[in-house]
Amino acid sequence: MQVIEVQRRRQMMTGTLDEQVERAVAILTEQGALAAGSAPEPPRVADRSGAGSVGPAIAVLVEPGREQSARELLGAAAELASGIGGWVAAIGPSLDGADDDLAPWGADEQIAVAGREGSPAPVEEDLAAAASRWAAEARPWAVLAPGTAWGREVASRMAASLGAGLTGDAVGLKADGAGRLIALKPAFGGWLVAEIGCSSPVQMATVRPGVLPLRRPNPDRPPARRSSLDAPSRSRLEVVGRYRDDDSGELANASVVIGVGQGVDPADYTELEKHRSAIGAALCATRKVTDHGWMPRARQVGITGRSISPRLYVAIGTSGKFNHTVGVRNAGTVVGVNPDPDAPLWDVVDIGLVGDWAEVFDALIPRLAEAQAG
Ligand SMILES: Cc1cc2nc3c(=O)[nH]c(=O)nc-3n(C[C@H](O)[C@H](O)[C@H](O)COP(=O)(O)OP(=O)(O)OC[C@H]3O[C@@H](n4cnc5c(N)ncnc54)[C@H](O)[C@@H]3O)c2cc1C
Repeated sequence: MQVIEVQRRRQMMTGTLDEQVERAVAILTEQGALAAGSAPEPPRVADRSGAGSVGPAIAVLVEPGREQSARELLGAAAELASGIGGWVAAIGPSLDGADDDLAPWGADEQIAVAGREGSPAPVEEDLAAAASRWAAEARPWAVLAPGTAWGREVASRMAASLGAGLTGDAVGLKADGAGRLIALKPAFGGWLVAEIGCSSPVQMATVRPGVLPLRRPNPDRPPARRSSLDAPSRSRLEVVGRYRDDDSGELANASVVIGVGQGVDPADYTELEKHRSAIGAALCATRKVTDHGWMPRARQVGITGRSISPRLYVAIGTSGKFNHTVGVRNAGTVVGVNPDPDAPLWDVVDIGLVGDWAEVFDALIPRLAEAQAG
């Protein structure tokens, strides 16, 4: 077990609203929280391990339309592969395009899974059956999948078929001293991270999108080998349409995010939108907000939502309960606005402003926009 410790500065602003805002902007500027170039450069995707396609394989299930989570997983897989002398196979539909070289992101081989001719991507059941056949033969060291509805379904079907242990919703991955996969998973409400290993030969994990670092692509990696797998349809299921209730990539990539709790009246969302666009922020929400249907479920951040790591997180209308704030643990700087001087929020912010969000934003947002521009 590892204890999660997040050190926040917990600086409460005092004085009139203008004085609080003045001081907050000065601190944010001083700390570089407003400058686009201030984030440290992420690590580069590991070089190809010497093994090529010899040695243990790490398979990454690539979900169509989720480029960022595929890149996060491939980067982590390449890192693990370099530690165990293995190689990385990216498996998924639509991986056969000439422009889709995933090598810079960590793949050594791309295995395109094709459904019956003329049909769209194979459904999860068929894809899982094809990937399981591949895995039964290749005996990969590990299979990693995104912790999305798609990834959970494909991975759990594969785990059942292979008799493999599967850790769901991991927040980190590593290899232990014995060369086994360790998946890190929040425990006891998120204060601790449990290290979970599988006893099966094939080790599996789904990983939450947005929690692994997105490594920089490595252009020195040789192009990925190409191969394909047939996924004949069992014709038990026909997908007539798919939609997502939101663009989750926008939130994952945003460097500034405003977190909205139920203390913000949805009637004021138009006003909020004006502030959001002035500083180029993305919006996320607490579970109360998504439960009310005020924002799409894909915007929920927290223990049962997503995790994000923006450079600057501004929380408004939220009490700062642990189940929400655990999802912004990796944010650079956290600013909180709440009229309640005793809100739990103050324990998890770097800068706290006591007041009504609309009044604070009227003063704060133009100053942040100015500081961003300058
Ligand atoms: C198993 C489980 C899983 C959960 N998972 C999640 C999760 O993933 N994500 C999540 O968010 N929650 C999750 N929750 C719920 C979580 O515990 C909290 O109940 C929730 O985050 C609180 O939402 P809130 O801060 O919007 O609402 P509240 O706790 O009601 O807080 C509203 C706040 O708004 C403030 N406020 C009121 N008016 C204003 C104003 N004008 N300006 C500024 N502030 C104002 C109030 O002072 C108050 O502090 C989970 C709960 C359980 C039991």
